[in-house]
Amino acid sequence: MDVVWEPQLSAEERRWHDLAAQLSVEYFAPLAVEIDASQRYPHETVQRLRDSGIATMALPKQHGGGGASLVAYCAVVEEIAQSCASTSGIVATIQLGAAPLLLLRDEQLKRDLLRGLTERGEAVSFALSERNAGSDPASMQTIATPESGGWRIRGQKCWIGGGGAAHWYVVFAQTEPGAGKRGIAAFLVDAKARGVDDSRLEDKMGMRGTRTATIELDTWVEHARVLAPPGEGLRMAFGSLDVGRIGVAAQACGMALAAFRLAVGYAAKRRTFGQLLIDHQALGFNLADLAARISAARALTYEAAKAHDNYADVSVLAAQAKLIASETSHDVIDAALQIFGGAGYVKPNPVERLYRDQRVTEIYEGTSEIQRLLIARAIRAHATGGSV
Ligand SMILES: Cc1cc2nc3c(=O)[nH]c(=O)nc-3n(C[C@H](O)[C@H](O)[C@H](O)COP(=O)(O)OP(=O)(O)OC[C@H]3O[C@@H](n4cnc5c(N)ncnc54)[C@H](O)[C@@H]3O)c2cc1C
Repeated sequence: MDVVWEPQLSAEERRWHDLAAQLSVEYFAPLAVEIDASQRYPHETVQRLRDSGIATMALPKQHGGGGASLVAYCAVVEEIAQSCASTSGIVATIQLGAAPLLLLRDEQLKRDLLRGLTERGEAVSFALSERNAGSDPASMQTIATPESGGWRIRGQKCWIGGGGAAHWYVVFAQTEPGAGKRGIAAFLVDAKARGVDDSRLEDKMGMRGTRTATIELDTWVEHARVLAPPGEGLRMAFGSLDVGRIGVAAQACGMALAAFRLAVGYAAKRRTFGQLLIDHQALGFNLADLAARISAARALTYEAAKAHDNYADVSVLAAQAKLIASETSHDVIDAALQIFGGAGYVKPNPVERLYRDQRVTEIYEGTSEIQRLLIARAIRAHATGGSV
């Protein structure tokens, strides 16, 4: 029996998992050190994700996707994160960009846009955050004003995953300054359109094989590219993030598992004071706590995914899964690095990279504080009979 809880996967979910495991061994793991060191976005990996079907695995079969469950998606992200966290970040970015399209009510538009992803290999990035509006997107400063039968969008979006490599951006913008969430709409912006500059890339501490860009906007979008009308934009953004957060939780679990296994392997062969590290009770107990916490984080993550697959409202469960998994992952990797001692602090120890890669799982798609805020609001609503 394994010491960490394992999800029960259906045959179809297992098939997706095994495909991810095989690609990880053959392609993703061998690139992990190089893309981290050079901060290179691996276009060949993106192509492999497309060719294998992983890039579009969670899109409906009727639109050319793989029709996979969220449980299968989590199994894939978790598996890939164990060998190359950046690659799991690329998968998650592709998924987050597609999420708003899945929420479209206009079936014709939805079909046309999803076909672009599944048949033409187009990539979409999710552009919500701004330099002064991350946790509080209702205060965004990107403005959309009606112009010539469409909309002029002016502003700047920051830290956008896949920026500079995407074909399209889902841009959330304020249509009525001062109206807060009541004025926010969503637009599909062509990355190559006049007035879109996505060339400024961030220099990151971790996840260095992913691309993160600032998007400068002074561009025009036709009416047909309005994805959510004023007042509906944030609902679309939050609905997308509910699913995305479960994926980030799976990513965090994958990194925790990788660090845990490395630490156990080391503790079972390194000797101090005449005995193996694992035989020092302080370290053995530490590993026991880590195993129990990873099991709990994984179980919650897969339960949240299963609930989503069963059409439940997962906003609170997704926040809990992301909070627990990302903070567990933080503690596990920190402890793993400590078990390696000096050897954990230097390259090319994968724990050193995991330590940097993991940190953002507590920040993107809503910080840990924002997950706590969401959960606290739900508790309050439950206790007082109010709305969230
Ligand atoms: C690598 C990377 C990739 C990203 N990818 C994307 C992307 O693809 N698309 C996108 O739109 N965004 C993306 N982001 C942005 C990310 O979602 C935001 O950075 C995040 O939501 C936090 O916003 P902020 O940085 O503005 O922090 P702030 O909102 O300024 O928060 C600063 C600190 O204050 C805390 N805080 C804020 N409000 C409260 C409160 N009410 N109570 C308690 N604490 C609070 C926060 O938790 C945080 O610790 C990415 C960020 C990174 C680093």
